[in-house]
Amino acid sequence: MRTVRTVEDLRSVLAGPRGEPGAHSVGLVPTMGFLHAGHVSLLDRARAECETVVMSLFVNPAQFAPGEDLDAYPRDEERDTERAQGAGVDILFAPPREVVYPPGFATSIEVAGLTEILCGHPDSRGREHFRGVTTVVGKLLNMVGPDRVYFGQKDAQQALVIERMVADLDFRVEVLVCPTVREPDGLAMSSRNAYLDPAERERALALSRALRAADRVVTHGERSASAVLQAARAVLDEAGVAPDYVELRSARDLVPVDRVNGSTLLVIAAQIGQARLIDNTILGDSSR
Ligand code: AMP
Repeated sequence: MRTVRTVEDLRSVLAGPRGEPGAHSVGLVPTMGFLHAGHVSLLDRARAECETVVMSLFVNPAQFAPGEDLDAYPRDEERDTERAQGAGVDILFAPPREVVYPPGFATSIEVAGLTEILCGHPDSRGREHFRGVTTVVGKLLNMVGPDRVYFGQKDAQQALVIERMVADLDFRVEVLVCPTVREPDGLAMSSRNAYLDPAERERALALSRALRAADRVVTHGERSASAVLQAARAVLDEAGVAPDYVELRSARDLVPVDRVNGSTLLVIAAQIGQARLIDNTILGDSSR
């Protein structure tokens, strides 16, 4: 594995294996580092499907609002380098901030609609969060030029926003969304879990428990959104978790639904101590 930090180096390293167009596939896994098994699952999938695997490691300041955890965000490049190497990554692209945002940087990408709800709502992280995400992912796609790019279903809204951007702006890349990886007790893996003390971690388990409770009532035939949401809220209430949101949305376009039909996403966000956690599940999906 090679670590590179500039776009010139990245392109010259990729020029070798790439050869003729279409002859050699390149997969990109964008991350903010502090790798866990969720990240590694994306790397494994990319490794299995692509000849060259690039992992980007960049804690993107543009997706953090003032007052959010940019400075506190956990970082450990040494350990990430070992894990990336262990997962068979060919190129670790770890640009410094000024490579991504050089002086005078003035352009951004914004997807309308999908970014104004849930985590993009003004009472939540706001649309600026997603503007930061789409801008950096657009840049990474242009810098690396991958054939495939891998994201986690854990960030379901982010994945839909990126799919929209890729379709709207004709990025020549296939977007693959991979299942959420969980701890044995159900907690969705997240770099931000590092903020949780043991009592908070215990409370954080209520998110995945709430998803499972809702899934159970759906499996038993319940279809009314209010009843399904009630099952999820009851679990959160009991654990003393006041969610930022708990909602049922279409898994295709995040439109609110009042009945669970076909592909329905249950999404939860909650602040637990210093950690803002999100989790989701597709209800009644027997393929999981
Ligand atoms: P992050 O480093 O948090 O920006 O995440 C990088 C990528 O890993 C994103 O596509 C996330 O959706 C994905 N990811 C994060 N947590 C998980 C998880 N528990 N399971 C699967 N993918 C995940």
